[in-house]
Amino acid sequence: MIGSSRYRSHVCADTPEAEGQQVRLAGWVHRRRDHGGIVFIDLRDRSGVVQLVFHPEQAEAHAAAGRLSPEDVLSVIGTVVPRDAQTVNDRIPTGRVEISVEAVEMLSEADPLPFQVEDESIEVSEEVRLTYRYIDLRRSRGLRALELRSRITSAIRRSLEGNGFLDVETPMLTRSTPEGARDFLVPSRLHQGYWYALPQSPQLFKQLLMVGGIERYYQIARCFRDEDLRADRQPEFTQVDLEASFVEPDQVYGVVEDFIVAACAEAGQSLAAPFARLGWEEAMRRFGSDRPDLRYSFEIQDWSQQALGTDFAVFKKTVEGGGVIRALVVPGGGRQFSRKDGDDLVAEAQGLGAKGLVWVVVSDDGSLRSPVAKFLEGLDSDLGASPGDLIAMVADDEVTASSVLGALRARFPKRYGLELESPWAAVWITDFPLVEWNVEEARWDPSHHPFTAPKSEHVEILESDTAAVRADAYDLVMNGVEVGGGSIRIHDTALQQRVFELIGVGAQEAEEKFGFLLQALKLGAPPHGGFALGLDRLVMLLAGEQSIREVIPFPKTASGADPLTGAPAPVGAAQLEELAVESLVPDPVPEG
Ligand code: ASP
Repeated sequence: MIGSSRYRSHVCADTPEAEGQQVRLAGWVHRRRDHGGIVFIDLRDRSGVVQLVFHPEQAEAHAAAGRLSPEDVLSVIGTVVPRDAQTVNDRIPTGRVEISVEAVEMLSEADPLPFQVEDESIEVSEEVRLTYRYIDLRRSRGLRALELRSRITSAIRRSLEGNGFLDVETPMLTRSTPEGARDFLVPSRLHQGYWYALPQSPQLFKQLLMVGGIERYYQIARCFRDEDLRADRQPEFTQVDLEASFVEPDQVYGVVEDFIVAACAEAGQSLAAPFARLGWEEAMRRFGSDRPDLRYSFEIQDWSQQALGTDFAVFKKTVEGGGVIRALVVPGGGRQFSRKDGDDLVAEAQGLGAKGLVWVVVSDDGSLRSPVAKFLEGLDSDLGASPGDLIAMVADDEVTASSVLGALRARFPKRYGLELESPWAAVWITDFPLVEWNVEEARWDPSHHPFTAPKSEHVEILESDTAAVRADAYDLVMNGVEVGGGSIRIHDTALQQRVFELIGVGAQEAEEKFGFLLQALKLGAPPHGGFALGLDRLVMLLAGEQSIREVIPFPKTASGADPLTGAPAPVGAAQLEELAVESLVPDPVPEG
């Protein structure tokens, strides 16, 4: 219990229960109104707002109220009184009472503010909001996001601890952990010329914890990846990270589903477990994406065989040459579809890498409208399309056709106003390829990370049929957003060395970078696997926000800068010298 202090006996939200009592409240001046001698102030603290009334009879308090401006911080003594029936305000939870103020103590005066807290309808640029993030957080949107985040985090902790997981911390100053991004480096003063890397994830430490017999580990862990920022990326972000020994994917799914369901409940959302599962190959074939949004059921269909029977040369040649004809039926997408829309769609598909696109509208009378309609007889019934639907078709090699239609599928619901078929769709995408071919570098790259185990039945073909090797790796996708991923790990030194070899990490490099892991795997390593969830993304989805920045207390801008503190910032020559680091940018020009 926090108890009373000299500043307050109650929080604003609790005042209705204290009707008739004298209370002391503390908080910010939210809004002020003067009404014929009486001054009304809405006092705000984290719990909410309550109306303060200053009557002229309380001369000193009344005079003080006259001098208050927005966001001043004060403490008041007053009596909780019921409001007159006509002045009860149903829009706020404390609206049936008000505080008749007897004394005011000013705790901190606020200068005029860069933007209003009270009127949230006024749009403020993100740069200004982040520069004054502490004021932004006083607005209900920011506060609600942090409250939800806190509740979700504790629900996740309770769930994992209930399942026997131990909260264990891992180092921030460490060696590189290969999650496929660039490292943030920290120079060592005591070991000049040597560098720490900030962890891209706790991956190697959590595996070592399994070798250490911890069996079930979790951590709400900060991760650092120096990537070019995209809308949904931050250089530092938070993962719910876990690892368990003696498990197969099913046990990992169970544990994760438990905590996701608990997290959703905190946001008033009910999700049913177990979640759907979809093999990676099937996801790519049916949805053209490894993160399909399954709140919509329309899927990619194949029309290759039928195309062979038409006189449409482009389609026929594609199929005869080993390609495919794939199609998406967009329910109702053809209702107001003009020729210009068609041209735009073709250009869009080309921008996504297709040679072209064929669009077809099923008219109200059931006839097909398309520049090539005459070749496509029976198409609508083959694909189950109805009057009003739009059909988008791509003729190409299988990978291109899938990826182009997959990208369009993600854009169509918003564009054509498709109806949500369910508010939430969580799906496990399983059996990813172990590695993917990196054309530029002409080598295999791990699809997940180098510690992911190939499926046991594929170990044999690791070198001979590499592209066909599938991994015990899985992603969790919610509403089309990849919220997390994990895998069963390699716990055998020889197999780990083969995988390193396969991805072009030679024995010497492996020893240098990961010798400690290879050594640990030789000293009694249990089979183990795990998962990591992007906490920021989950909270964003549950808060109904579009950007993770809204649910991170102090986020960075899209260029990785923090306008509040001015980080990153140049450092002095003396500091660099101490670190034995020389800058190639001798005198950085201050930004801004
Ligand atoms: N360390 C992985 C990541 O950050 C997750 C995992 O495999 O557990 O993506």
